[in-house]
Amino acid sequence: MGNIFKLFGVWGMSIAACRRMRRTLSFRLTLWYSGLFFLSTVILFGVMYLLLAHSLQRRDYKELRGALTEYQSKYDKGGVTAVAEEVAVEGGLAERLHLLVRVATAANTTLFLDSPPFWKKRFDVTQLEKRAPEKKQLLRFPASDGDEEILILEIASLPLPEGMLLQVGKSTHEREKLLEQFRETFIGVMGPILIFSVAGGALLSVRALSPLRGLIHTLHAIIATGALETRASVPGTEDELADLSRLFNTMLGRISLLISGMQSTLDNVAHDLRTPMTHLRGMAEVMLQTEASETALREALVNCIEESDRILTMLNTLMDISEAEHGAMRLEKEPVSVYELVTQAIELYQDVAEDKAIQIATAVLPELYFCADRNRMLQVLTNLLDNAIKYTASGGQVTITATRDDQHIVLTVTDTGVGILPEDLPHIWDRLYRGDTSRSQRGLGLGLSFVKAIVQAHLGEVTVSSQLGQGARFLLTLPLDHFS
Ligand code: ADP
Repeated sequence: MGNIFKLFGVWGMSIAACRRMRRTLSFRLTLWYSGLFFLSTVILFGVMYLLLAHSLQRRDYKELRGALTEYQSKYDKGGVTAVAEEVAVEGGLAERLHLLVRVATAANTTLFLDSPPFWKKRFDVTQLEKRAPEKKQLLRFPASDGDEEILILEIASLPLPEGMLLQVGKSTHEREKLLEQFRETFIGVMGPILIFSVAGGALLSVRALSPLRGLIHTLHAIIATGALETRASVPGTEDELADLSRLFNTMLGRISLLISGMQSTLDNVAHDLRTPMTHLRGMAEVMLQTEASETALREALVNCIEESDRILTMLNTLMDISEAEHGAMRLEKEPVSVYELVTQAIELYQDVAEDKAIQIATAVLPELYFCADRNRMLQVLTNLLDNAIKYTASGGQVTITATRDDQHIVLTVTDTGVGILPEDLPHIWDRLYRGDTSRSQRGLGLGLSFVKAIVQAHLGEVTVSSQLGQGARFLLTLPLDHFS
């Protein structure tokens, strides 16, 4: 009993395995390949068969035409007697050729009829008198003893003088035998061809799909171990599957880069927020421990809100910087007019500049376009403009220029402010770094890190030149991309 259950279990498993196999691409490819191969072989044999049948028929017709001409010339010389003599002379030959020769009157009455002795015995060829003669005709004569054998004759007719008729016929037997042999050979080879096409198809699909199996194997390994550094082996060919393997590996590289970028973003942000968060907590703790008045408590709450706003801004900017640095930022690139960009930035800072009696001058080439994320670029420009106004004393000047070279937009933001200490210059791009000259000004020390990250994400460059007390000049070089 147990054995029967086991048997059913094995049976069920093999049915499931068969179903799974039927769904595989290798199976379908094998099926398609062998099916197409088999079908083309059948078509090829079919065409060859038709061609052979046609050429055998033409050969027989030619023979009949030759015989007709020969007997016609005999008739022209000596009438029916001459035809009969010729047939008698060629008696052996006629028999060998399986030819029928007949001369008939205008009323289709037989004057002379000769056919191989074997036909005479078995088939009633005199029946020809009952059929209206045609130039070319195919006639069937059943065996006179009721046997199933049938004689099929191809008969060619030629009119003779005075309405007489000359007919020569030939059996199709020989031709049919040849064609039958061909058909038998065809059926005989079909079995091996089918086996060969299935084996060929299986081999081909196994070979063609081996890179895909490699990819699947790599994916399984990555899912099982989480090891993103694993790479699929790339076949030595230059085909689509090699491309797919290469792309797959590139994608894996990009994913691991993004993941490590996100990891370091998280580490950096956590590290950078620790100090302000501790500060915020400290403020709240102090107020809780002291017997403060309601006004003092309210003031502390306002400070806490301001501090948390600062932290929020900081967090957002830190996230943006990290995303831009690690290529995770989505840039909505579009053609951007430099003139419009500069005008928009100035509009935002016009009031601040006027309050400080700082003049903003521009020298921007019109019709200057480049491919960039408009909002991000506006943030870059406003950060530089904000710094320029912030670090310039009343009555100073800020100048924005924009030109282009062959492949770049060149933007400068120059001020006549305090300038940057030479020892600060290498560090001003670092996150949370604030120069000595900036102590009295508001700021998070993130503006320039943001500018640099966004410019680099656009494949551009930003540099600074400054001398203490003589202002600073920031120079941006951004690729035009395909816009001019
Ligand atoms: P902050 O919030 O301090 O302005 P940034 O990252 O924008 O932070 O700038 C970093 C430092 O670079 C500033 O603290 C300041 O010392 C210096 N700096 C930036 N822009 C200028 C400028 N136009 N003139 C003088 N110093 C500048």
